[in-house]
Amino acid sequence: MKTYAMTGGASGIGAAIKQSLLDAGHQLIVVDIASADIEADLSSSGGREAAIEGIVAAAPEGLDGFIACAGVGSHVPNLPLIAAVNYRGTTELVEGLRESLARKNGAVVLISSNSAPMDTNPAYVEALLDGDDAALVTQLESMEGQTVYSGSKQAVARWMRRNVVDYAAQGIRMNAVAPGYTETPMTAAVKDDPTYGEAIRQFVATIPVGRPGEPEDMAKAVSFLLSEDASFISGSVLFVDGGHDAMMRPDQF
Ligand code: NAD
Repeated sequence: MKTYAMTGGASGIGAAIKQSLLDAGHQLIVVDIASADIEADLSSSGGREAAIEGIVAAAPEGLDGFIACAGVGSHVPNLPLIAAVNYRGTTELVEGLRESLARKNGAVVLISSNSAPMDTNPAYVEALLDGDDAALVTQLESMEGQTVYSGSKQAVARWMRRNVVDYAAQGIRMNAVAPGYTETPMTAAVKDDPTYGEAIRQFVATIPVGRPGEPEDMAKAVSFLLSEDASFISGSVLFVDGGHDAMMRPDQF
């Protein structure tokens, strides 16, 4: 039995990850804004600190792994909220749990997105990676939800890759899963949107394997990356998207 912690376990992909880890007999500490072991708002620094303190207190012997899954979709009009939850709610939690993970040679899995490689606003991504709040505010003024979302997921993947060496020195592996379109409450909100719904349905119809993702597809990838079978895998961004990224960017990997 391993001891894991995760964010975003109350819904969608996170709920499937939670279920698969519990079914496998592991101990799991779930952080979410509601319906969780630790209820914390990851959009605020106070909420992120409370989440870290709560996890450390609930796992006094350390963590075998941490999964950062909480996220906010591109349909949410509050753009600073998307950036805060998706980027800070991921990276600050990993940093806050680093010592706890080092005690058990833990594995980290971040949930990015197959939208991460899309063209975004480079200055916005740099502002996130640099922790430059003033630049972030300035960049967000001229952006829209989709690029704020995809840029936040690109920043998560790049933060992971920049930190893999330092974390490996403490015995911690880090990887990211980049889901493609997956049927969850988040995507239902966009699919039912009167403006974007039809375009989304046409986009889903182009997924090479012929179906949208299910939350369980992501949970299986996460379980693998957490496991001993993945002990030589660190720094990877695993696209779990039915071939959509390869279709859109065949010559890049
Ligand atoms: P979802 O909306 O079903 O789940 C998101 C979870 O994050 C919820 O449990 C929610 O309560 C939690 N959350 C949101 N804001 C929070 C906050 N401020 N504090 C604490 N918790 C908060 O969405 P999902 O589709 O299951 O998405 C899960 C992750 O997968 C997200 O990071 C999302 O960006 C990513 N993702 C999803 C898709 C997809 O197609 N569904 C594709 C690529 C990436």
